[in-house]
Amino acid sequence: MDRRNVTDHEGTVHEGLLNAHTGFLIELACGAGRYKVVHPYEQLDPARLTDAPLSCASCTEVTTAGPSACWHLYVVTRQHAEAILALADRHGYAPGLDEEALRLALLETRAPADRPTRELYPLITEHLTDMLTERALTTHEGTPRVLVEYQRHTGGTVQAPIGIGDRLMYDGTASGLWSIVEVTAVEDTPSGTVVTVCESGRFARRWPADEISSLFFLLDRSPRT
Ligand SMILES: [Zn+2]
Repeated sequence: MDRRNVTDHEGTVHEGLLNAHTGFLIELACGAGRYKVVHPYEQLDPARLTDAPLSCASCTEVTTAGPSACWHLYVVTRQHAEAILALADRHGYAPGLDEEALRLALLETRAPADRPTRELYPLITEHLTDMLTERALTTHEGTPRVLVEYQRHTGGTVQAPIGIGDRLMYDGTASGLWSIVEVTAVEDTPSGTVVTVCESGRFARRWPADEISSLFFLLDRSPRT
């Protein structure tokens, strides 16, 4: 998540919290909402990004306490996201990223007084998306490099290296079959790099690296890897 100063409709400068991949303005550090800066159904005008100092009193208050001030919305929502990801890891699957999944995870991880309001869900989702992207881009050292497309939940696509434990989805645009497989091996062989995948406990299948890169995309990475 990016933090950039933005000018609102009245000319006041706030700290904006933005999607680092798409530049979408999610919220302001003072919590005034993105519509202070962006009109509904419109994208953020790049001219609203500014290097001018903050002039919003609330934004100044939360940011001058230091970038890691514990009541800054960036920090508060990051802590919620970390708790949700830790819970999903304990359960052994990727966290759900829709509103209901967040609500249920926060019920389990947060005391009633500490639960965030729904207005903060988009910031929590963005942090989770960043954390899952970072995870998707990391593999064990020594794994042969085979890249596959990974679509970030909140927008933007990156090329991620395939690792053991990854769940890949077959691109079923042409066939209508969107099967999910799990990677069990990535190996260099005399005839090139080969990725072995397993479909829900059935026989393993070996794919040449270039084929798997064009036919599959990465869904998520198993927490146990
Ligand atoms: Zn502000």
